Amino acid sequence: MYTDKVMDHFTNPRNVGEIKDAAGVGEVGNAKCGDIMRIYLQVENDIITDVKFKTFGCGAAIATSSMVTEMVKGKTLDEALEISNQAVAEALGGLPPAKMHCSNLAADALHEAIKDYIAKKGK
Ligand SMILES: [Zn+2]
Repeated sequence: MYTDKVMDHFTNPRNVGEIKDAAGVGEVGNAKCGDIMRIYLQVENDIITDVKFKTFGCGAAIATSSMVTEMVKGKTLDEALEISNQAVAEALGGLPPAKMHCSNLAADALHEAIKDYIAKKGK
C-alpha cells in the first residue's frame, strides 16, 4: 500500500532531531491518527541552512516529514513557502488516499516554522 520511497523514508528518516535555538519552529497535528509534527529551521540570509523534525505519528506522517526536510534544505524562504502538501506526496511517489491527511502535516508544519521565523524577525 505504500511506495518503496515511503517505506524508505519511514524506516530510515532523514534529519530527525531538534535544533537548539532554532530560527523558527512550527508544530501541527491532526486528530485523525493523532499525528504531531514539529519542524525546526535554521535560516541565514533567507536561506534554510538546516532543518530537523520530530514527528510522533503513523508511517505516512514520518515519511512526509522526512521528505519535506530533504526538499527544503538550501532553499530560500519564498521557495519553501511554495512547497505544497501535494508536492511532498508526489515526491514520495504518492500516498494511499486514506493517508493523504497525514501528508498535509509536513508542508503545514514547514510553513508554520517559516511564519514563526518571520514573526521573530519582526519583518
Ligand atoms: Zn497519520
